[in-house]
Amino acid sequence: MKHHLNARKVVIVGAGDVGASFAYALLQDGTAECISLIDVRRELAEGQALDLAHGLPFVNTTHVQAGSQEDYADAKVIVITAGAKQTPGESRLNLTRRNAQIVTSIMDDIAHHESQAVVIMAANPVDTLTYVALKRSGWPANRVLGSGTVLDTARFRHMLSVHCGVDAKNVHAYILGEHGDSEVPVWSMTHLAGMRMNEYCPACQKCEDWMKERERIVAEVRDSAYHIIDAKGSTCYAIGLALVRIVVAILRNEHGVLTVSTLLNGEYGLSDVCISVPCIVSNTGVERIIEGNLTDDELRALHASAAVIQENMTGIKTPAIH
Ligand code: NAD
Repeated sequence: MKHHLNARKVVIVGAGDVGASFAYALLQDGTAECISLIDVRRELAEGQALDLAHGLPFVNTTHVQAGSQEDYADAKVIVITAGAKQTPGESRLNLTRRNAQIVTSIMDDIAHHESQAVVIMAANPVDTLTYVALKRSGWPANRVLGSGTVLDTARFRHMLSVHCGVDAKNVHAYILGEHGDSEVPVWSMTHLAGMRMNEYCPACQKCEDWMKERERIVAEVRDSAYHIIDAKGSTCYAIGLALVRIVVAILRNEHGVLTVSTLLNGEYGLSDVCISVPCIVSNTGVERIIEGNLTDDELRALHASAAVIQENMTGIKTPAIH
């Protein structure tokens, strides 16, 4: 039986660090009417939901609950943050295999409940798992997307903003490609006050060697997750806010431009890979992929990044449900 869709209902699968931080940020945003947390550790989901619900007198009225798979039936957005952590000595490939199995079984449950939701993958490796979820669902590509490089792009904008002494909201910049080491900073799409960075920087004259600063910033963006994980074990707050940005673009039909991971079908000369490129995100999910003009070097780097994702998928099975 098809259920009536609740256009403001968000289900979060995985109530760990990322799931809970996202739920906390979403609650404060106030757009969602219902936030339902699901976890294989039921008591964890219940504890997180109660903790969040106790803050309800201070935020917009929202229903927060520990949910069940029944919640898939009428959800507008389902965010998957569920994943296994690497065990000592375990290879990345083995971890990917285990997480692919988890995602496959979650997608089976979602399909079983005839969900009409947009699914957002946040668990890592995000590009591979987005592909696995999409193929398993058999849904149109717009309805299954990954958080991709939305977080990396935010880190890039933040670090440029600190360097330039300008509000991060006024720095327009994108990281494309894999959410991982092969990500691609796209300097040709980086603007400040309507000027390309390579025009702005000589005019600004704030630093002595801008090209050296560029390299430092790129390395810092690429390695920042490692630094945070070394310091506190996981990253959760900025990804929580990044997920709010994506989910709210869907709930409010905002048509926001976001670097989500999506299936390419010839765009940028790439096919059959989920990878981050600028997309217009609306209430249907990925409404349109924007094919920007990259330089030859940037396009080569994007292709190399896609090759890394495809290489990581070797041995990962992606059978469809039907
Ligand atoms: P965590 O271990 O704190 O939480 C994961 C939760 O998933 C656990 O509570 C676990 O019980 C649950 N879980 C496992 N299998 C499940 C299933 N089948 N159904 C429901 N719940 C299940 O981990 P975390 O720190 O919250 O990270 C979650 C994922 O997000 C990881 O894969 C991590 O690498 C990824 N991550 C992604 C980004 C990004 O930018 N996309 C950023 C940070 C973390």
